[in-house]
Amino acid sequence: MSTESLNAPGTTFAEGHAAVLSAAARSSVEHEDRLKASTDRSGFVAASLPEGVVFAQDAGEVAEVLRRATAHRVPVVPRGAGTGLAGASSARQGEIVLDVSGMNQILRIDPEEQLAVVQPGVLNAELNAAAGQYGLFYAPDPASTAICSIGGNIATNAGGMRCAKYGVTREAVLALRVILADGRELRTGRETIKGVSGYDLNALMIGSEGTLGIVVEATLRLRPLPVQTATVAAFFPNVEQAARAASAVVAARIQPSMMELMDGQTLEAVDAALGTDYRSRGASFLLVQTDGHGAFLEQDVVMDAVSPFGICERAVDDEQAAALVTARREAIPSLEKLGRVSIGDVGVPRGKLADVVSGLEAIAERTGVRIFTIAHASDGNLHPMIVMDPEESVTEGPPKVALGEMFHLAKSLGGTLTGEHGIGLLKRDWLQEELGDVSLEVMHTIRQALDPLGILNPGKAI
Ligand SMILES: Cc1cc2nc3c(=O)[nH]c(=O)nc-3n(C[C@H](O)[C@H](O)[C@H](O)COP(=O)(O)OP(=O)(O)OC[C@H]3O[C@@H](n4cnc5c(N)ncnc54)[C@H](O)[C@@H]3O)c2cc1C
Repeated sequence: MSTESLNAPGTTFAEGHAAVLSAAARSSVEHEDRLKASTDRSGFVAASLPEGVVFAQDAGEVAEVLRRATAHRVPVVPRGAGTGLAGASSARQGEIVLDVSGMNQILRIDPEEQLAVVQPGVLNAELNAAAGQYGLFYAPDPASTAICSIGGNIATNAGGMRCAKYGVTREAVLALRVILADGRELRTGRETIKGVSGYDLNALMIGSEGTLGIVVEATLRLRPLPVQTATVAAFFPNVEQAARAASAVVAARIQPSMMELMDGQTLEAVDAALGTDYRSRGASFLLVQTDGHGAFLEQDVVMDAVSPFGICERAVDDEQAAALVTARREAIPSLEKLGRVSIGDVGVPRGKLADVVSGLEAIAERTGVRIFTIAHASDGNLHPMIVMDPEESVTEGPPKVALGEMFHLAKSLGGTLTGEHGIGLLKRDWLQEELGDVSLEVMHTIRQALDPLGILNPGKAI
């Protein structure tokens, strides 16, 4: 829906925007704040700027913003920490940004029930640090853990490095408080571990990219910190061998808590950024962690599965293990030093990792686009990263062709367009091809039922 069509009869755009902006104590129409809100970390920059940003401090303000937005037909773009990789929180002319990053209180940690109640702006790493004081942790850990918010994690159904064993955000959310487009408050889920009364509205909200409501509070499941963790670093002559080794670990029927792959070019970028020397040890890298009481027994299984493909080493201590994890977490920031980065997010069946890796190399050759690959290998979730010149855009030219070819490659292998980053603005062109007409129609019907005026994050997700 075009934002121009939303204006309420009898109100000018300027009046509508002013009414929405004044619904909370803090708002801004400063150029810098609008510029920041026009982009995220996807490499996409909107061609125009939003009208202003409202910084909500509590659920009451969120509800009032949405009541006024409904009354004046003003489109609203929810925003957490702005680290998204699909352009889903990028706002444009005619839109007001609803920034909830200031709602950042951990309201309760219940060590007996192993749960936390948090506001949406709490950063993922902050929750983990707080839970750690009780011997607990919050499992979904995007590589952006230090900079992304729980609200954004819920809206994108974020994954991460530990999700192989502990599941993605969907598996960690027990209950939500959500403000709907008309300002009503919806409560989904419950604090119990089990519960099946009614439809699963938690699941509906999770991954909905700010199109169905604004999360203002979340009750999250915590888990006991593993008693021990064992780490293996393996280096290979090429990335196909690393992918084969990862498939061999899966086939060995153990469940690593982390299995991350990086190709040689990415290792080079990490070395340059961190002053390390990983690339000299191989042209691709696999980091495998096992945890729990059987961590070291499982590590033996990992060593047996991986050694036929390359050189593997056990981390000698926690410090060395932490340095290896840091190298992986720093992969994206390191590549961002080389140019504008657009991050693909395809998922394939785990036995097809080597096929997708060689397919990506062929796409890079065909399109002339630079593609670097990292992957959450135990999920079959790859992040092929297109590194462009600053003036290039992923929405046109060879980078867009490469993005489309990546999707078709994944689809041909029985895979998906996005494993964890979402559709946002950047991947809508291929969505119908993956979902089919009926599935998309049902989704539009749900969206229409919850947001009949199309106020929330128009043009995104579906
Ligand atoms: C270096 C780096 C590494 C990354 N690694 C990973 C990774 O390993 N796994 C992964 O999944 N992602 C990863 N990401 C992507 C990103 O961090 C996640 O998508 C994250 O969940 C976005 O959170 P955010 O708070 O930044 O959300 P934003 O970017 O602000 O918003 C993302 C979406 O959520 C919506 N939204 C935000 N808050 C709310 C709310 N309270 N209610 C309703 N909707 C809301 C927005 O409208 C938008 O649609 C990475 C990003 C970077 C920069």
